[in-house]
Amino acid sequence: MAIAVCSGSFDPITNGHLDIISRGARIFDKVIIAVLHNSKKTTLFTVEERLELLRQATAHLPNVEIDSFDGLLVDYMKKKQARVILRGLRSVSDYEYEMPIATMNRKLNEDVETFFLMTNSQYAFVSSSIVKEVARYQASVSDLVPPVVEKALREKFATS
Ligand code: ADP
Repeated sequence: MAIAVCSGSFDPITNGHLDIISRGARIFDKVIIAVLHNSKKTTLFTVEERLELLRQATAHLPNVEIDSFDGLLVDYMKKKQARVILRGLRSVSDYEYEMPIATMNRKLNEDVETFFLMTNSQYAFVSSSIVKEVARYQASVSDLVPPVVEKALREKFATS
């Protein structure tokens, strides 16, 4: 069984992520979305909140599993018997960011391959940070994120 792991912060999941995940789910038998626990990044949503949003946004995809992990991705993958890292590429800067990570992961475990899908051009400019920036000022992000995320952002910024 070919299992791919799509790791990231997903703070929060966007339609760009969802596009990569659903396309990945058509290629691999199973896609595990793995939220990194120990990221140095400050996040808007807690890990639990991000997991719940991911669960709801991918409920229609039967071969997608949601999980979180700590430590090295290659160690987590061994535990899950996964050999493919699924990532999305939007731009040259994504490529420059991903290249050393993919090389290091391969060095840590030569059985692991990083698999890149080119972004759907309609989501090329979409990132979690740009979505948060826009939502913070109550502007609409309805075509950039799943409806559950839009609601969660509205609630988050209404109380902060
Ligand atoms: P990280 O914190 O590891 O960068 P993210 O949650 O930002 O994690 O992204 C996870 C993955 O989703 C990365 O491979 C990223 O390139 C990809 N991704 C994010 N937004 C988009 C998008 N709009 N189109 C395609 N891929 C995307």
